[in-house]
Amino acid sequence: MSESPTQPAAERALALAFDVGGTSVRGAVVGAGDVSLAESRVATRTGPAVLDDIAQLGEQLLAGLSPAARSQVAGVGVAFPGLVDTESGISLKAVNLGLVDTPVAAPLAERLGLPVSVSHDTAAAAGAIWADAGSPASALVAVLGTGVAAVTYVDGRPIVGVSGQAGELGHLVVDPAGPLCTCGLHGCVETRAGARSMLRRYASLGGSGVAGVAELVARVEHDPRAARVWSEAITVLADGFLAVGALLAPGEIILGGGVAEARGYLLEPLRVRMRERAGVTAVPPVRLSALGGRAGLVGAARLALASTGTSR
Ligand SMILES: [Zn+2]
Repeated sequence: MSESPTQPAAERALALAFDVGGTSVRGAVVGAGDVSLAESRVATRTGPAVLDDIAQLGEQLLAGLSPAARSQVAGVGVAFPGLVDTESGISLKAVNLGLVDTPVAAPLAERLGLPVSVSHDTAAAAGAIWADAGSPASALVAVLGTGVAAVTYVDGRPIVGVSGQAGELGHLVVDPAGPLCTCGLHGCVETRAGARSMLRRYASLGGSGVAGVAELVARVEHDPRAARVWSEAITVLADGFLAVGALLAPGEIILGGGVAEARGYLLEPLRVRMRERAGVTAVPPVRLSALGGRAGLVGAARLALASTGTSR
């Protein structure tokens, strides 16, 4: 992300950012160059308790700052899952959190004493990845984590769809005979390539002792079960990207999110698998975002600063 060197005052501005994921709520105080001054996380709880956890995490992060740094915090950005009304800061529906029509911005603003902006988590993460990649006019930006999502940019703008729900790549069915998905269908991309699904799959094959995808990937070269799970994930991602490619022919594919931190284990096998399975569909260049699993946090921080009029 290029930043103007003529804005020293703006670069001092800090944001309190939250990325509310399916496994954990991450919070950070983010400053210039998207660097975190402090970061913390708690396990995600469902229902209104999650809002309490976000507020508490925020209070702890703010309390850890020096008075000078505290005074530089311009606002709060929250990357929130599900359907979000960004204008009112209300979670319209977050199935995984068990929330319907729940105010998010207002209670947090009251607790933290700062302006709060709420964005859909994929939009926040994809926006940060896209901007970080130089804002290409045509690109598919994939956010790979507990869920799988992809935002396609055409003519420099994201395709959001009439309801803002475009980009649910995770629920594209690639194997109708595949495992049951949380959405009720079988064989969605997420059932093989979602972080939690991969760990479940590994356990079902008899694997054990793995707490996250990074540990799974570390076993790929010497554990056939890990290799199989990872290979299956690569295949469904390839098929999912090729489906988007067949419809929209993006100029490139940029990968971010926690699972993209597998880097070389992801990138080259995915390129190969896409070429193997492409048929007549053109395979665009694929590259990794440097933001990895921090994309949501960075996106939330940028949202907070943009909303408070603090130019970065
Ligand atoms: Zn699904």
